[in-house]
Amino acid sequence: MSDSPPSDLLRAKAEARLAQESDAPSPSRPAEELLHELQVHQIELEMQNEELRRAQLALETARDRYVDLYEFAPVGYLTLSHGSRISAINLTGATMLGEDRKKLLHRSFARLIVPEHYDLWQKFFADAQTKTDKQTCELTLLHQDGTRMDVRLDSLLIASDEADTELRVTLSDISAQKHLEHILQENNADLLKAKSLADKANLAKSDFISSMSHELRSPLNAILGFAQLLEAGPPSPTPPQKSRIDQIIKAGWYLLGLINQILDLAMIESGRQPMTMESLSLNELLLDCQSMIQPQADKAGIRVNFPQLDEPCFVYADRTRLKQILINLLSNAIKYNRTGGTVDVAVHSNIDGRVHIGVQDTGKGLTPDMLKQLFQPFNRLGQQTGSVEGTGIGLVVSKRLVELMGGRIGVESVVGIGSVFWIEIHLSDLGRSVTSGDALLKPVHVVVEAAIQAAFQALQGQIHSEVVPRTVLYVEDNPANMMLMEQMLERRSGIKLLKAGNGTGGIALARMHLPEVILMDINLPGISGIQALHILRADPLTAHIPVIAISANAMPRDVERGLEAGFMGYITKPIKVVEFMAALDQAFEYVRHRRTDNSSEDGRS
Ligand code: MN
Repeated sequence: MSDSPPSDLLRAKAEARLAQESDAPSPSRPAEELLHELQVHQIELEMQNEELRRAQLALETARDRYVDLYEFAPVGYLTLSHGSRISAINLTGATMLGEDRKKLLHRSFARLIVPEHYDLWQKFFADAQTKTDKQTCELTLLHQDGTRMDVRLDSLLIASDEADTELRVTLSDISAQKHLEHILQENNADLLKAKSLADKANLAKSDFISSMSHELRSPLNAILGFAQLLEAGPPSPTPPQKSRIDQIIKAGWYLLGLINQILDLAMIESGRQPMTMESLSLNELLLDCQSMIQPQADKAGIRVNFPQLDEPCFVYADRTRLKQILINLLSNAIKYNRTGGTVDVAVHSNIDGRVHIGVQDTGKGLTPDMLKQLFQPFNRLGQQTGSVEGTGIGLVVSKRLVELMGGRIGVESVVGIGSVFWIEIHLSDLGRSVTSGDALLKPVHVVVEAAIQAAFQALQGQIHSEVVPRTVLYVEDNPANMMLMEQMLERRSGIKLLKAGNGTGGIALARMHLPEVILMDINLPGISGIQALHILRADPLTAHIPVIAISANAMPRDVERGLEAGFMGYITKPIKVVEFMAALDQAFEYVRHRRTDNSSEDGRS
């Protein structure tokens, strides 16, 4: 071996130390030189020994530190070999397993697992022995004292030959985590229970709203019905009587409007009437609004200007509700306007995918104080003592509806100039409009309007051209409503009224007398009007008789359901006498046409 620099250095250090220790002169003779060499080597050896001792000490310190880390690590360390036998385990691991380390060594880990997790363990163990990436599983261990512990195992395959495999496994206590999960699950169950209770309460609320609507409408039907009969005569009311009757009728319809709006608001608030969102043409919708609002505008002498949209514009909204909002804003703009004033409707597409619809009036305008009170129920901003009719709920309902559609509502106003009420709703990315249900209903509505005129003339005492007596069956459990019907029909010559107080009685009378038209209440003792209708339809004797529903169930959903069930018409209480007469005439007309068709068929056969 050639001299290396460290040994040169060691030699130099040893020489220096010898010189220091002995004060001896430099060697001159061979024996002295030899002695000197020996002394230097001896010192060299001592120094090397010292170096080794230091290294060993450092090594021991490091090993102690490593052992501490291993033994007291926050997770358990296990080595599994020969099946699932524990060949090494740290102190934490032994503590977690709740047994003495010596007892654990060379025993099977599998025996510590609760029986119900044994399948889970076997799958994990099989994967861990064959796959090279880390395998994880969560298990419950059963201690000797009977306590349980939830643990997570992370395992890595260390050695694998044909004879055996060795796994390094860490063991983490996840009992606290599992406990939290359990609590969360329980809380979730509690939340679900609470939600179901809230749903039930909402359902009860909505039922209550429906029945309240029914209960309020029934007496109103009597009030308004008899007042209308008094107004029409005979005998004709004297002028002072006429003005008093007018007040009753006006107050009655106002009350009805109020009931409707409060119920509508309550239904919206209860969340029982979800929006039916669809892509619809704003152009069409504005045309609808225009024709609906025009009569009110004409009556008030207000000019309403609608914009001419150059391009088709589609919005994403609930058709009926959007119309309701726009009619509310338009109606307000007409009501709170000046004589000979105007209403301007403006439409602008926004950059953020919304459309802005503004309704501008030429009314008195609103002060900042009044603006703050807008959109509050029953707050008519001092108008409650004025001459304009209104309930003060319309804007509240509109605001809720716009928000439910994901839009916004607002107002800008200048005192003495007027106000602009506006809404913003989402534009639709679909370029197509779904066929409107309203459009389908429109022709029927037009027919009714035309018939109203004719019926009104008949009501004024003009003799009806028909002379053949006609039979009408009315199924109604409320005596006041039955009496109203009797008196309404007395004004028509040649109508014979059959009366039934419940559905079964009504069906029996219908089979016996085969009336031309049946009028059917919905809420009846025993079977409902809808059930009675089904029985009449199923019987070939009575299947052809037109049945008109007359009900105090007046929510839009009730009307829809009634028409779906197969009623020819659905008249809501309180009855508008002329409207009812028109529907009755329509039914008579239908019967007459059917007879003509049948007799011509008979002629051919
Ligand atoms: Mn009833």
